[in-house]
Amino acid sequence: MSGPNTDYDPVEVTPLKAEEVEAARDAALTAIAAANSLEELKQTRLDHAGDRSPLALANREIGALPPAARKEAGQRVGKARGAVNQALAARQKVLEAEHEARMLVEETVDVTLPTDRVPAGGRHPLTTGAEYIADIFVAMGWEVAEGPLIEAEWLNFDALNLGPDHPARTMQDTFWTEPAENHVVLRTHTSPVQARTMLTREAPIYVVCPGRVFRTDEYDATHSPMFHQVEGLAIDEGISMANLKGTLDHFATQMFGEGIVTRFRPSYFPFTEPSAEVDLTCFVCRGAQVVDAGDGQLVTCRTCKGEGWIEWGGCGIVNPRVLIACGVDPERYSGFAFGMGIDRTLMFRTGLSDLRTLFEGDVRLTTAFGSEL
Ligand SMILES: [Zn+2]
Repeated sequence: MSGPNTDYDPVEVTPLKAEEVEAARDAALTAIAAANSLEELKQTRLDHAGDRSPLALANREIGALPPAARKEAGQRVGKARGAVNQALAARQKVLEAEHEARMLVEETVDVTLPTDRVPAGGRHPLTTGAEYIADIFVAMGWEVAEGPLIEAEWLNFDALNLGPDHPARTMQDTFWTEPAENHVVLRTHTSPVQARTMLTREAPIYVVCPGRVFRTDEYDATHSPMFHQVEGLAIDEGISMANLKGTLDHFATQMFGEGIVTRFRPSYFPFTEPSAEVDLTCFVCRGAQVVDAGDGQLVTCRTCKGEGWIEWGGCGIVNPRVLIACGVDPERYSGFAFGMGIDRTLMFRTGLSDLRTLFEGDVRLTTAFGSEL
């Protein structure tokens, strides 16, 4: 068993020697100055100011010294640790400022750089087409009117002079909803919007009604159980066939260009009297009935089959019975109405030959035609 170690000279404890403390301090200061990033400085802090760093170990030794020796050793180690901590804080500040400045540069977004982002697609040509048509009429002071797709039988038929026993009622193949006694249909034309307009507004009325309609048609290149119509209705004092013709000629020219006008052929519709089929100057031969085959040879125009005209829609003077059903005084007011397929009109304008192309959701169609009609 040994007694107290009287030979032990605490001042000579290695970590507490003046030169050892200075060496530890200098090593720390050099390492701090050399730290080039916050990450490196973090490691430097652990190595030179952490719990297991030389100066921390030296600090721990002070407690083992006799009281007389503690003061001097304590001051020496404390001063060295203070210098290291001060250097660490200063370096930290410098590195943080550099880091922030670098982030500002590195994270700058150059909004002018080209990107390979997903294409935005385009609006459907039916949407832009319906808007284009509506705009032609809005420019003449007309209003756009819309109505529900699921419609009361009375508004779809009866109000338009298509009574339950009217033979023309079977001309339109109708989707009926269940139960039948509710008398609700998928609208077969946009005409109920006209009826609704007359029932809710005072004459004079100038409205254009683009919208989706439904009939139990086959689905093929020229038919679809769902298609789009645009109808127009003008109710005012002294409205005549001349106003109708002038309006449709303007519509045709705006839609297909200078020189494209309309022709009327007598027809029958229950809601107009007199009624007419509307033909359009053939937009391919422009009424010439023949086209250049490419070698100077003139051949019959295939689009209009040599007619010079193509069918576009129907029109007429509003039947007074319709005016009465919709609360308009036929003694004071008269009106005209017309309707044509938006899909068909767009096919004319774009050269599409298959109606189904418009309904099958292929983005190549919308990107090609969607941004502009
Ligand atoms: Zn033609």
